[in-house]
Amino acid sequence: MVRRGIAALLALAFVASEVAVAAPLPTVAATTPEASSSATPGIVPTEADVAEPASALEPPSAEATPVPEKPKPAVKFRKPKIAIRKDRAITLTGTLSFSGGIVASDTVRVRIYRYQKGRWKLRWTRKATKRRINKRTVRWRVAFKPKMRGRFKVQAMASSWDGRFRRGFSSPRRFRSVSARYVALTFDDGAWTTTDRVRRALDRGGAKATFFMVGQHTKSHRAAAKRVAGSGHQIAVHTMTHPMLTGLSNGAIRRQLVNCRKLLKRVTGKNARWYRPPGGATSSRVRRVARSVGLREMMWTVDTRDWTGISAGTIRSRAVRGARPGGVILMHDGGGNRRPTAAAVPGIVRDLRSRGYDFVTLDEWAALR
Ligand SMILES: [Zn+2]
Repeated sequence: MVRRGIAALLALAFVASEVAVAAPLPTVAATTPEASSSATPGIVPTEADVAEPASALEPPSAEATPVPEKPKPAVKFRKPKIAIRKDRAITLTGTLSFSGGIVASDTVRVRIYRYQKGRWKLRWTRKATKRRINKRTVRWRVAFKPKMRGRFKVQAMASSWDGRFRRGFSSPRRFRSVSARYVALTFDDGAWTTTDRVRRALDRGGAKATFFMVGQHTKSHRAAAKRVAGSGHQIAVHTMTHPMLTGLSNGAIRRQLVNCRKLLKRVTGKNARWYRPPGGATSSRVRRVARSVGLREMMWTVDTRDWTGISAGTIRSRAVRGARPGGVILMHDGGGNRRPTAAAVPGIVRDLRSRGYDFVTLDEWAALR
């Protein structure tokens, strides 16, 4: 933001010297060649163009004092381009031009931001390879493979040395990576005696998941619930006592959801934003009530039926075979003997990862849509 000032300053300096030569007053500002050429991609002149005529008009005598001999050095960015290859690698290219007596030097760095939880977060800074076209222009290129798909924005940053350190930023370009392979693992009916096992298996595999917790169960396994949140997994509402919500009045539905969320907040410190109706029993009325208290419904795309007494091997193969990009896999960490599920988790994580999948929480899942 501040660095745009370099381009703006250049325009300003140019205008000031023009005024000094061509005598007082009118027009000038926006029509100088420098200002109009700076209206191309990378650089944003805006405020300076607006501010300049006013200050030029006010003190007609002031221009005698600071008349710069030559325009200030500046770095400009042009033609940022983004290409996303099938293998998910992203190539970014662009051109930089240096002016005001400085030559292309030093390195070009590229900053990549990812959109997360409602704001842009700086994820990587990469050194770009550059190819010099002439003394004043370089073309840069950077390729990278993001671990996570989603919405990104890129900004190039160049520095130059002419006795003083100069730095310029391009205006950011947004893009979204494609061919996303991600799944959300979800676990219902905890917190429970098996919750820690499931969490440890996920943590060892470096996978994040979402836990739909039942208020009543969580009351008896507070520490386990807290550890789930502490490991960066997402906490979600699965009601207070696990009733079929479609059979309840609006008021009762609301209490089931809100009380569970309150309890989870108290235990884990996290504010749940998603709910899953017990037994998958839902309706537009249930969803409307949930929406009115700020909860989004999440069902699933793969039901492992892991609670039916099947082996860990079967759970694993159902989860893996059923997975599709953007899928949501349903399993259970609580409500009965969930050892087979806990035993299946390491294999599920390994198999899906070897197929190129990343594991996302539901907030991330939503951000990727
Ligand atoms: Zn359930």
